[in-house]
Amino acid sequence: MAKLELKNIRKSFGSAEVLKGIDLTVEDGEFVAFVGPSGCGKSTLLRLICGLDEITSGQMAIDGELVNDVPPAKRGIAMVFQSYALYPHMTVAENMGYALRLAGISKEEIAARVAKAAQKLRIDPYLERKPRQLSGGQRQRVAIGRAIVREPRIFLFDEPLSNLDAALRVEMRIEIARMKETLGTTMVYVTHDQIEAMTLADKIVVLNAGRVEQIGSPLNLYNKPVNRFVAGFIGSPK
Ligand code: ADP
Ligand code: MG
Repeated sequence: MAKLELKNIRKSFGSAEVLKGIDLTVEDGEFVAFVGPSGCGKSTLLRLICGLDEITSGQMAIDGELVNDVPPAKRGIAMVFQSYALYPHMTVAENMGYALRLAGISKEEIAARVAKAAQKLRIDPYLERKPRQLSGGQRQRVAIGRAIVREPRIFLFDEPLSNLDAALRVEMRIEIARMKETLGTTMVYVTHDQIEAMTLADKIVVLNAGRVEQIGSPLNLYNKPVNRFVAGFIGSPK
């Protein structure tokens, strides 16, 4: 578990500033959702948090330790993407254990962690299958399992369910809610689906054009939006 603090985070690509001073604290064990229109900077912010991209200015700390210059592998963060990006030639078990193998963890330890995560996600019958032999929902479970086995301090999700059909989305939303309950790990979840944000998050951050419009509990945002933008975004159905 870990507390994440962002102070005046800015990010520019060339002359275009896409994050314009983000201030945010994610408490230990909290589930925070980032919502906002396409292009507002959600994915960029996640990439900065996990260290895949460099912050232009500002400070980021995990449990009080400044991590601006800490490489991704040392941050204790795991990310689940929208496209599962599983290796097609590897089995489910190999996909789930790959990052651990690179980190030099023993075969026995990898097997134990993979088995435990697979059981939690109910994909243990499929460990020897290849990704193409799985349904979309099973593949997304593998992608989540791959993050779980790393035992991260923080999970990041970038629209993990947006490629799934409606029924599967509901099923996986329940899966993620269960993961939140059982793991209790700090989670940052990007979505453009208001229902996901409202049902899963302890706290919602509404982003617009690289700025935070409002931060609050789902109820708080729903009942007391600070402006029309937030009201329209949280209030309107997808
Ligand atoms: P979101 O995830 O909210 O849809 P992104 O964070 O992907 O938005 O993008 C925010 C803005 O930054 C967009 O205008 C996008 O075109 C721009 N952007 C993102 N990544 C890059 C990059 N590597 N180079 C240049 N511009 C980028
Ligand atoms: Mg995005």
